[in-house]
Formats: sequence, C-alpha cells, structure tokens
Amino acid sequence: MSVLDLGVPAVPGAATPTTDTTGRPDDARLVDSWGRVATDLRVSLTDRCNLRCTYCMPAEGLEWMPTEQALTDDEVVRLVRVAVERLGVQEIRFTGGEPLLRKGLEDIVGATAALDPRPEMSVTTNGLGLTRRAAGLAAAGLDRVNVSLDTLRRERFAEITRRDRLDDVLAGLRAAREHGLDPIKVNTVLMPGLNDDEAPDLLAWALDEGYELRIIEQMPLDAGHSWQRDRMITAEQVLASLRTRFTLTEDPAERGGAPAERFLVDGWTGPDGSPAKVGVIASVTRPFCGTCDRTRLTADGQVRTCLFSQTENDLRGILRGGGTDEEIAAAWRVAMWGKKPGHGIDDPGFLQPDRPMSAIGG
Ligand code: SAM
Ligand code: SF4
Repeated sequence: MSVLDLGVPAVPGAATPTTDTTGRPDDARLVDSWGRVATDLRVSLTDRCNLRCTYCMPAEGLEWMPTEQALTDDEVVRLVRVAVERLGVQEIRFTGGEPLLRKGLEDIVGATAALDPRPEMSVTTNGLGLTRRAAGLAAAGLDRVNVSLDTLRRERFAEITRRDRLDDVLAGLRAAREHGLDPIKVNTVLMPGLNDDEAPDLLAWALDEGYELRIIEQMPLDAGHSWQRDRMITAEQVLASLRTRFTLTEDPAERGGAPAERFLVDGWTGPDGSPAKVGVIASVTRPFCGTCDRTRLTADGQVRTCLFSQTENDLRGILRGGGTDEEIAAAWRVAMWGKKPGHGIDDPGFLQPDRPMSAIGG
C-alpha cells in the first residue's frame, strides 16, 4: 500500500512522493532496492534556529514552518515508536534546525528511552542552551551529543554564525561532559578564507578537552544555493592540514554505515583511555552512500530517504487522518524502497533540494 492508496493529500508544496514498490520483498524492515537496510533515523524537531551559519541559513532567517504544520511531541513519539517497534530502527538522532529550541525535547527523549527495544539516542545541536538542558536530557535517557563548532576564535565565530555566542557553546560542551553525555563529538565545517587554517588548533583543543572532532565537507545544502565545488575544503586538504601537527593512522575498527572515516591520533588517548580519534566526513569527495543506513523525518512529518532527496513521503497526513501504526509503517517502507543509490552531487543533472539543511535535519 502507498500513501496515495490511502487517499491522503500530499502536503502543499512538498516534493512528490515515491510510490513504486515493484520487486519489494515481504520484509518488515526499511529495505531499499539497492540492498541497504535503514536502521538509523534522523528526526528533525524544528526548522528554526538561533544561529545563522552562513553555509546553512541566510542572515534574515527563513520563513519558518507554521506551528500547526509541525508534528506535536506526541506525534513525533508515535512515529519514532513505529520506526523502532515495526521497522527495526535502532538508533535515533534528534536534530533540526536547533533541536534545543524544542521545549518538549526532554519528554520526547524520555518517551523514546522507554521503547522496547530501547534505541541509542543522540542530539545534534549548536550547543546554545545546553548548560540549562544537559542535566535534564541526560536524566531523560539521552546517550550522546554532537555539538557543532567551526572555530575557537570569538570574532570568527560571530562571522560564521552571525551571532557572538562562542562562550555559550563552550559552556554547553562542558555541561554535556559534566552530566555524563558520552562520547561528545564536535562537528566542524571548514570554509576557505574563513577557518580553513584552524583544523590543527581545533584538534589540539578537542584532544585536551576529551571531545571527538569530526570535520565535515561542506555540502550544497545552503539556503542561498551558493555552494561551489571548487570553493569547498576537501577531506584530503583537511587531513594534510591536520598532519602538519599530528601523526594520524587509519582506525582499523570496522566503519560499517558510519559517515566518518576515523583516524587514530598518535600519542593521544581519549577520556576512557582508548586511542584518541579524529573523524573526517567526506560526503562530497568520498561519498559513503553505498553503506548508508539512514532514514529521515522532517519536522512536518515527511520521510526523506537522503539529505539530497527530491522526493518526500507524507506520514503526517496518515497520522492525522486516523491511520493505524501499520499503515504508517507501510508508507515508510514504500518511501525507503525508492531510495536512490547515491546523492548524485557529481552528476551533471544534480539539483540541490528545495529544502535547505536546516529544514531537512542535518
Ligand atoms: N543546529 C544544529 C547544529 O548546528 O548542530 C543541528 C542542525 S545542523 C543543520 C546539523 C549539522 O549540519 C551541523 O553540524 C552543521 O554544521 C551541518 N551543516 C549545516 N549546513 C551544512 C552544509 N551546507 N554542509 C555541511 N554541513 C552542514
Ligand atoms: Fe542553525 Fe545548525 Fe544551521 Fe547553524 S548549522 S544555522 S546552528 S541549524
């Protein structure tokens, strides 16, 4: 059965849904037609944000999603429950926009932690507000946190995020550590002429603090559609820069569906005494689509199979139309069967998705 079979109208303005299930086996999981199985769910809790990172949002912000279009806390929890109980999802990451802007985040995390089997749970955040929320989130059952930070220099931070809040992010990171969220990963995007000289400093700082640094290649997901392939810092450049100060060896551990290529930093240990690591996420130059195990849910209840999808399948309509859990699960399976083999950034016909990163959920 597909969303269309249920007679549910598509969300106005949303991308067209996937409907073809030709060849799909009778498998309850989120299998796709290229042999992959999605077990990792990224849930966007809002498209709003209190920063304006230049590679993500315009200075004036965006037209936010009207409140009634966004899923309520109960609706989010229901979809997460369906994903865990019926579709085999094992890992949930809450993101946005800025997920800490969601007042009910602790309740959503608590309800997710009560699911059986209990999924692994993490939040990707810009860190603002973590000083106040880390204790409650840890108590509710959050396992891990990823904090985005592109520079340790106050003026640069203000230039990149268009807000003078570096100290608040650093305090948020410390609060996460004090409340036992572990590991703490720091996500960094490097941009030429802005912070591309800072990789070794960021790694030295992360090693001292016990955080795991992960440097992400900038992707064509900015609201202004201004990304240029020849203006991005590649993983190769990142590694060359880090190696000016550190000796890195490839992590022999199995990578699985993880986006980050991890390297051991010679001479350093992490907080638990194991070798310290640094990650590079080469989404553009060394894509990992072949092992992708992700499915995504936008804040308005649309399934996206990839950051770069041109299709979305509506679950909110089924949910609000009185659909059963099994109908929701069935629609989600249909969406995933249509997942493309790769993001296609290098294809001549590549089109940047209409939704920017902040509205997809990074
Ligand atoms: N606001 C939260 C934060 O910044 O962590 C969560 C949402 S944000 C969209 C998630 C991640 O996407 C962040 O680490 C951010 O640096 C990254 N990101 C945003 N735009 C990006 C782009 N164009 N290319 C690569 N990463 C991007
Ligand atoms: Fe906000 Fe995160 Fe986008 Fe920065 S990257 S503008 S913090 S959503």
